[in-house]
Amino acid sequence: MPKNPPPNLSDSERIQAGQRAIAARRDRASMKIDIANRTKTIFDAINDPRQGIQRMRVSELLAAVPGVGTRRTFLLMEKLKISEGRRIGGLGPNQIAALREEFILNKLEPGVGSLIVMSGPGGVGKSTITNHLRDNPSIWVSVSATTRQPRENEREGIDYFFLTDEKFDQMIAADKFLEWAEFAGNRYGTPREPVEHARNLGKNVLLEIEIAGARQVRSKSPESVLVFISPPSWEELVNRLENRGTDSPERRAARLALAEEEMAAAGDFDHILVNHSVEGVAEQLLSLASAKRH
Ligand code: 5GP
Repeated sequence: MPKNPPPNLSDSERIQAGQRAIAARRDRASMKIDIANRTKTIFDAINDPRQGIQRMRVSELLAAVPGVGTRRTFLLMEKLKISEGRRIGGLGPNQIAALREEFILNKLEPGVGSLIVMSGPGGVGKSTITNHLRDNPSIWVSVSATTRQPRENEREGIDYFFLTDEKFDQMIAADKFLEWAEFAGNRYGTPREPVEHARNLGKNVLLEIEIAGARQVRSKSPESVLVFISPPSWEELVNRLENRGTDSPERRAARLALAEEEMAAAGDFDHILVNHSVEGVAEQLLSLASAKRH
């Protein structure tokens, strides 16, 4: 008799098992690509409950990390006493802790990304700068939630998450905001979880928020970098606010009064960037972000 007789499976069971094996292979392949591209770390894989991932060999996982490769994998496994055929699901807590230590020590972990908080008076061009950086792979731009109505051309989930007052209240109650504030009669908030997730993957994060929100972030995350965007002159800011076609006259007057107040807050920020050009400010923001990695 063979040592491991094939299990007696019906046709449909065999088909299902085949489908499961294909899904597991696909999960493993996409995890390895994510690790190679640094959109995920080995610790995302270790915490991934999918069977296909849990049954992946540790050696296969480590070899996928940029800068590790097969030779260093072998040495690492030997040093950490992880046996050759060990699968992810079979790693003990001490081995996981040792891996983490080793990865941080050897700078194989990208570390926590920086948190750049951009603020400044309404009309200074913050959202144009944000839109300019939205597709830049060096920074992840947070998408805020708001109770205000969408403007023409604004897209749900890209410019904002447009929420009802009730839903916004629920998010506050569930502590789902990193910060939130009221501005010109509407509420705006930064969803906490996506920001933390991106930073834990080593990505730099950009928030574009008003001043009260920036102050909240500073008190909760003292390591954040607060950047104030200033107009080249007060006259230019007034011009920009008065020419906004999307606002009612009352709203424009309110924004002007607010802008004056907002300009007075510049001193609380770590950096002041004068918006002479969108490209110039975007460039400076990126260099601040990469200078302040953790
Ligand atoms: P707008 O309605 O013109 O898009 O934005 C109004 C103000 O709200 C801007 O100053 C913008 O930076 C700010 N804002 C946008 N999202 C957030 C957020 O998540 N939190 C806070 N505190 N302010 C925000």
